[in-house]
Amino acid sequence: MDMIRRSKPTELGVSSGKMRISHWMPSVFLVLLFLSVLLWLPWQAQHMEANDRQKQLIADTLWVEQAIHFQLSRNEENLHTISEEIINGSLPEKKLRDRVGTLLRSNRELSRIVWLGADDRQIASTSDAAVALTDFPGASRLAAQRARILKKPQYGQPEAPLGQPGVMTLDYHLPLYAGNHYLGSLIATYQTSGILEEMVPWWFAQENEIVLTDSNENIIDKRIAGGPGRNVYTYSRVLELPGTSLILRTNSVKGAPKILSNLLVISVIVLSLGLLWSLWALRRDINRRLATEEALLQQVSFRTAMENSLVTGLRARDLDGRVTYVNPAFSQMVGYSPQDLVGKLPPMPYWAPEAMSEYQQRLAQRLAGNITPQGFETIFQRADGTRFPVLIFESPLVNESGKQTGWMGSVLDISERKAIEEINRQQHEKLQFSARMASMGEIASTLAHELNQPLTAISSYTTGALNLLKNSVAETGGINPEILKTALEKASAQAQRAGQIIRSVHAFVKQREPSREPVTVQELLDSAMPLVELQAQQFSVVTHYSIAADLPAVLADRTLLEQVLLNLTRNAIEAMQDCAPERRVLRIVAALDSTIPVPHVTVSVIDQGHGIPREVVERLFSPFFSTKAEGMGMGLNICRTAVEFHGGALTHADNPGGGAVFRFSLPALPKD
Ligand code: ADP
Repeated sequence: MDMIRRSKPTELGVSSGKMRISHWMPSVFLVLLFLSVLLWLPWQAQHMEANDRQKQLIADTLWVEQAIHFQLSRNEENLHTISEEIINGSLPEKKLRDRVGTLLRSNRELSRIVWLGADDRQIASTSDAAVALTDFPGASRLAAQRARILKKPQYGQPEAPLGQPGVMTLDYHLPLYAGNHYLGSLIATYQTSGILEEMVPWWFAQENEIVLTDSNENIIDKRIAGGPGRNVYTYSRVLELPGTSLILRTNSVKGAPKILSNLLVISVIVLSLGLLWSLWALRRDINRRLATEEALLQQVSFRTAMENSLVTGLRARDLDGRVTYVNPAFSQMVGYSPQDLVGKLPPMPYWAPEAMSEYQQRLAQRLAGNITPQGFETIFQRADGTRFPVLIFESPLVNESGKQTGWMGSVLDISERKAIEEINRQQHEKLQFSARMASMGEIASTLAHELNQPLTAISSYTTGALNLLKNSVAETGGINPEILKTALEKASAQAQRAGQIIRSVHAFVKQREPSREPVTVQELLDSAMPLVELQAQQFSVVTHYSIAADLPAVLADRTLLEQVLLNLTRNAIEAMQDCAPERRVLRIVAALDSTIPVPHVTVSVIDQGHGIPREVVERLFSPFFSTKAEGMGMGLNICRTAVEFHGGALTHADNPGGGAVFRFSLPALPKD
């Protein structure tokens, strides 16, 4: 987490971009290398195959040349043996014929053997037609001369025999000498086509065009068994014979090797394309991953920044109650570092010892699966030991598969809010007090007048009593206790009334902390009635009280309720001040409302005044709203706050007979 927080998203973007290029370089290089090897390999293979074929052709040609040489030499030896026997005269003609016949049969390349005498005329021949040297072609005759001069066998230049165009023959002239005495010669005639047919093996002829030429490149004969040569693999070998030399040319029927079969080439291309595609796909995939990673990092840094800037403390706990995460605001709030808190099991270091049982109880509740969605207030202890109030909202921590893994709590330090609330409360109290004082101001003159009455009465009763006392003593010499008693009782009653008025005023204006106690409506009326009456008398309003029997008490601050009642009655009386005298009736009705689950005691203040106009209704409870010239506009606002403070409600309605009805209701206390 720390590591992620430190790296800025922009830095990451740049470094990943650089990383991408350097990351791809080796792969691209390898693919290029692979492709060039793929292209080079078939070319190399073709080259090697061509080399091999050429070498094979040379070897085979040499072998064929050797074979021809060998066969010709064997024939030469046989003829030599025969010639020696002829010279020795040990070979009768019949036997000679047999030997020569056998030779011809076993060597089919030999077409004829002729024995010429010293006069160049035929002595014997394997062919039926009689021949003389003059019947042989010119080149052959030249060879015969050379043989005779050199006394060595000679081959003549191949040539077509006279009268037989299209057939090429090669003559071998073997001179017969007995010492220096020339006896004639043996002439073996080969057909060049026979040499190629008989002496070149068939498998070689199948794969090559074989051509026999003279040293001037004139074609003597050729054998094309496997088709014409392709001129790709060719080789020439000189066939050295005594008296002449021939050239054996071989030309393979095979063409240059194909680079690779089409299928193979297609496979290689497809494979290469596949490789390129997969590389591209890989790159796209990696780019996507990098983009996702970048987005994720941005999200993480955004969330981390958000968490860090939160003023609400966040605290996560697993199902055992172990702290798994706290945000900076939380650790700052309680004065412990995240390391001090993460991994801790209850009791927590920030729990205040005096509230330990409350925490334990709540933890047990939560572990049992019960949470208070609206949150709860408690106190925490900072590392320095100071306490502060907190508001905690807990909710289950659910992972992506929907399973609960713990609890997430958001913690608000409400010290300031509490302080403001306290200031508000104090100000409100002051306001209430001021309102009371204002009410008092209004009734002060009436009060003076009202107190004047009992005081005057007391004064006159006591004066009367004194006069009575003086007269009785003067006339009768004694005191009539009955007359005196009546006067004194009346005086006492007046004094008590004055005292009650003063006490009510004193109790009403006394500033003090609100305190709740069970209060009955009767008690409320008893203490407020003198002041209500005082107001009523001022405006000549008649009051009616109707209190249901057996009304339960309510838990309330008596003075606050008195103030509510006085405000409502004062408003009601003031609303009737311009009415006809017979309509000036104020009724106070107290009853029990049992139609709701928790029974409420209701007190209705009913007047027959001018009622509440529609435009006034909306702003009735707004502070400082008044339709009166001297009105402060705080009365109803304070009344509603006071009633709601007691868990009750203040409502109003039109009086069907004209005027308004203001009703406050408070939860009734159970009877016992
Ligand atoms: P104040 O009495 O100082 O004007 P209140 O908050 O007590 O302030 O009352 C606000 C206004 O509500 C009064 O000015 C008056 O117009 C109207 N009002 C209150 N009670 C009654 C009533 N019983 N009948 C008609 N109007 C009333």
